[in-house]
Amino acid sequence: MTEAPGLYIHVPFCARRCPYCDFYSINALELIPRYIEALAREARAAAPAWPEAFETLYIGGGSPSLLNREGLSGLWRALEALDLSALKEITLEANPEDVSPEQAELWAEMKVSRLSLGLQTLDERWLGEVLGRTHSAAQSRRAAEILRAQPYDLCLDLIYGLPAQEPEAWGADLLKAAELEPDHISTYGLTVEPGTALARSVSERLLPPPPPPEKQADLFLISSQALNAKGFYRYEVSNFARPGHESRHNLKYWRRQRYLGLGPSAHSFDGQKRWANLASVRQWISALSSGAAPRAFTEEIEAQAARLETLMLGLRLDEGLPESALAGAPKLRDYLESGYLIQSEGRIRPTEKGLLIADRLALEFSD
Ligand code: SF4
Repeated sequence: MTEAPGLYIHVPFCARRCPYCDFYSINALELIPRYIEALAREARAAAPAWPEAFETLYIGGGSPSLLNREGLSGLWRALEALDLSALKEITLEANPEDVSPEQAELWAEMKVSRLSLGLQTLDERWLGEVLGRTHSAAQSRRAAEILRAQPYDLCLDLIYGLPAQEPEAWGADLLKAAELEPDHISTYGLTVEPGTALARSVSERLLPPPPPPEKQADLFLISSQALNAKGFYRYEVSNFARPGHESRHNLKYWRRQRYLGLGPSAHSFDGQKRWANLASVRQWISALSSGAAPRAFTEEIEAQAARLETLMLGLRLDEGLPESALAGAPKLRDYLESGYLIQSEGRIRPTEKGLLIADRLALEFSD
């Protein structure tokens, strides 16, 4: 049976740009009404090809928490052409500085079931100067306290591998985050993306570079040691949940199921083709106003590329892959015997050290 698809909405507005970020966003908040209008056009144009009910909705960005009641209601109305009658999960991303008791209640009214809070770190040493965030650790704690009083899951986003970050500091950060009693924690290794302000600061030696790969691996392994003891398990290479609180929407990406992405720079996958929208809000609005598809590119996924994707995504998941997906894969026995993979109940799953080389394993197995 084909799985019900997921729906992603990209809200491309941020109050200001964080120096490490390479997601598309702008601070021209005056464009929000035109963005909502264009979103409604895009949803109407997509509806005939996506007639079935969506199972998950993920409102990401950018900073969706900048949307007030009017903006969020407008966004909901913009999606009227799509069948949202059977949603099982609604996620919204928020920045700590946008969380107030009133906004938290608004999100509950809008039936949000997961609130993803971008607190990044609770260590002041990195929040301002390195990450350029405008919130303090105290604001993050206060935001988490407000959100905990709501019926939805609290999900925290953390970054590790910060310049000169020692394993002890990362372990302490994780424990402080666990004390906020979240249901889900995402841990992303900092990458210095070319063209970002962070990349310039590192190349001009204003900041030390992030730790080298072997130290990053230590930080990666510390994450599960710290979080397993607090009742979380790593269900994807970067994601931990209390059992039963995994992200259904993100699992669709990793299980290679279908999803529709609307908004500037959003990506979609219909099972055969993958496409991305134009990243610029203005170009995206103007394409939709003239009746054109706001696409940056579309690619057909050939059988061999599809197999590589299945392996790469499956080997990032704790559930791994069915044995049949790896039948005849070269060196599979070697990796099982050396403890990178485990075979049980008809599946092949990565161990912690297997997760560290998941992409390499996928490339070798796809040969
Ligand atoms: S708030 Fe998030 S999306 Fe916006 S610039 Fe900062 S990291 Fe990027």
